[in-house]
Amino acid sequence: MKFTELGLVPEIIRSIADQGYETPTPIQAQAIPIVLSGRDLMACAQTGTGKTAGFTLPILNRLAATRVTGPRKIRVLILTPTRELAAQVEESVRTYGAHLPFKSLVIFGGVGMNPQISALKHGVDILVATPGRLLDHAQQRNVDLSGVEVLVLDEADRMLDMGFIHDIKRVIALVPKKRQNLLFSATFSDEIRTLASTFLTHPEYVESERRNTAPELVKQYVYKVDRERKRDLLVELIRDNGWYQVLVFTRTKWGANGLADKLLKAGIEADAIHGNKSQNARTRALANFKSGKLHVLVATDIAARGLDIDELPYVVNFELPNIAEDYVHRIGRTGRAGSAGAAVSLVCIDEHKLLHDIERLLKKQIEVVAYPGYEPDPGIRAEPILMRSAGTRGGQRAPGGRPGGGGSRGNSPKAPGGHRSGPAKPGGGSHRSGTRHH
Ligand code: AMP
Repeated sequence: MKFTELGLVPEIIRSIADQGYETPTPIQAQAIPIVLSGRDLMACAQTGTGKTAGFTLPILNRLAATRVTGPRKIRVLILTPTRELAAQVEESVRTYGAHLPFKSLVIFGGVGMNPQISALKHGVDILVATPGRLLDHAQQRNVDLSGVEVLVLDEADRMLDMGFIHDIKRVIALVPKKRQNLLFSATFSDEIRTLASTFLTHPEYVESERRNTAPELVKQYVYKVDRERKRDLLVELIRDNGWYQVLVFTRTKWGANGLADKLLKAGIEADAIHGNKSQNARTRALANFKSGKLHVLVATDIAARGLDIDELPYVVNFELPNIAEDYVHRIGRTGRAGSAGAAVSLVCIDEHKLLHDIERLLKKQIEVVAYPGYEPDPGIRAEPILMRSAGTRGGQRAPGGRPGGGGSRGNSPKAPGGHRSGPAKPGGGSHRSGTRHH
């Protein structure tokens, strides 16, 4: 199939050609005709599938086909869970609408209201927003949603995870009843089904290739290591392997900051990106990472979600995610578009149950690599996983009161050994596997 076969207006075909895209991705080929037909859509698609163009292109086409006269009113409203995703979606709208006269705007929290108010006053056709800030504007009557024809919920599952369900309902109450609804979600949980049943009318359903099996090209490794030694091991891995563009996931904002500081002290250019950082700081960190100025970006799942960083060579799970599906999202950042990537997980005794859940989802075991000098100490017991700050709050208890056996824990020096036989290099082929039990 070609883009020219989809019935899009010439201005949009031109902007697609500007981008160098030749063929629609599977999700685009399925979703575009449905959106063009005016029907509601439920799409199961993750970042990286081309989903943004999948809804942006036909929406722009719809606006172009039915131009209205009079003052501009917001005709399309796109809600996203995070600021970064909102900014990226709006950039896509601008890119694909470059040859059309429509105005788009992005609004999100963490930055001043006033520039957004004046931009809204100037007239907007397509508004991309995070729910909280949109409602702030609605409350102050800065925004008129009475002309909305298309409402998009992007990454709806993440919006639910982040507790936005009430905000979404309040936004729905502000837009006209008669409208087209598009719902994009990476997963199709019961909660999403419930939302879909109230939000969509006779929807069409499309699904992109599921990524529940990890991308084939991504090599996955587990380093078993004690919780207190993860930081040192990460520094060594980065240094010894010469890793240059590494996205590192931590479970908490606090953990992200601490780790970025530790890496900086070790002379590795690193920064953290999470919800407590100002928008400017987040944008700067992301730009520096993309340009190669920063070698390591430490992120929480929520901050990283939807970031359009393609073809990363390395993703490190400094801590495993609590939700197994998040592991697949995380490592989906590497090895995109045919380039190989490596996903490395540092796993301590507390996380064996999480690792087991991930392997059950993947339906395979992840290769365990020993890093000489960092073998886990068999005397260390599992502890509950802390979800918050350095305190003792948080809930999830790792399984088992005794250390789970690990194939490489027979000789476990406490300090980084002076007798390493050389670093194990993911992708380099010199790793030693161990067996393990959960
Ligand atoms: P998304 O899943 O929307 O985040 O898109 C992932 C990436 O794919 C973006 O960087 C897009 O620029 C790119 N992309 C979208 N559609 C196509 C296409 N038809 N051909 C090639 N690349 C595309």
